[in-house]
Amino acid sequence: MSPASNAIPSEKKPFYHVYPGSDALTFGMLGCDFHCGYCQNWVTSQALRDDSSTTHFEPVTPRQLVQAGLCQGARLVVSSYNEPLITAEWAVAVFQEAHQAGLACAFVSNGNATPEVLDFLKPHLRRL
Ligand code: SF4
Repeated sequence: MSPASNAIPSEKKPFYHVYPGSDALTFGMLGCDFHCGYCQNWVTSQALRDDSSTTHFEPVTPRQLVQAGLCQGARLVVSSYNEPLITAEWAVAVFQEAHQAGLACAFVSNGNATPEVLDFLKPHLRRL
């Protein structure tokens, strides 16, 4: 399940120089290992610890997410909106579908990663 997915301009991402002029299908799950007071995505990042966070869920498969990105002309699939390192297994399931469809994949993360999760992700994040 994903609480959020949108195709948005790549220029809005920290890697704005990747495929300029394209869209990035961006999806998120729930939770974050940080609790930043300025979080723009607190309804998803803090949903597991803050009762005032309410968000809407839609069941979606990795294939459906990638198809939505293709239909919207996206060239990138991006895991964001929560802290993607804590939902890395789910992101990899999406990235595997995305690679088969010829899309590049990326993370927008706080970087608080273990060596193990980086080793897990490395084969699935396409070098550009
Ligand atoms: S998603 Fe980012 S900004 Fe929000 S709490 Fe987590 S690390 Fe902080």
